Amino acid sequence: MQKEKKKEEKELLTIHSSIDAEQPFRYSAGRYRSRFLTEIRDSQKFVGVRCPKCQKVYAPPKEVCGPCFCKMTEPVKVGPQGVIRSFTIVRFSFVDPETGATKAVPYASGIIQLDGADNAISHYIEYDDESRVRIGARVEPVFAEKRTGSMKDIKHFRLID
Ligand SMILES: [Zn+2]
Repeated sequence: MQKEKKKEEKELLTIHSSIDAEQPFRYSAGRYRSRFLTEIRDSQKFVGVRCPKCQKVYAPPKEVCGPCFCKMTEPVKVGPQGVIRSFTIVRFSFVDPETGATKAVPYASGIIQLDGADNAISHYIEYDDESRVRIGARVEPVFAEKRTGSMKDIKHFRLID
């Protein structure tokens, strides 16, 4: 009896599931982000917001400027062009959790600062010549034909230098 109990205590098993587990979620974009997304969807334009204290322009917008801790109320048009501030070339294929399909590689993912904005957004960068993808390169958005009010309304940014 004692021996059997010891054996049970040592044997830790892992439970595997063969069921594909989805974890759908949604949350409110909020007033500021909703305006940003509806401008992209309806007008293919970018609207950020300026801090009345430090004058920084946030696009995507935030309701409160973190450093100043004050509410922002002045909408500001930014972009549509911008500059690559950082990027990576992805060479390993993986299943895109947003689509469930394998994303073709290589592709570039970058941090793009829209003209007139002080912060930046993350998005895909399309290119023909990988050597042209560099920090400081100018880009412009290519919008999706069918827009639904999400960041996917921008298909990607493309190089314009
Ligand atoms: Zn501020």
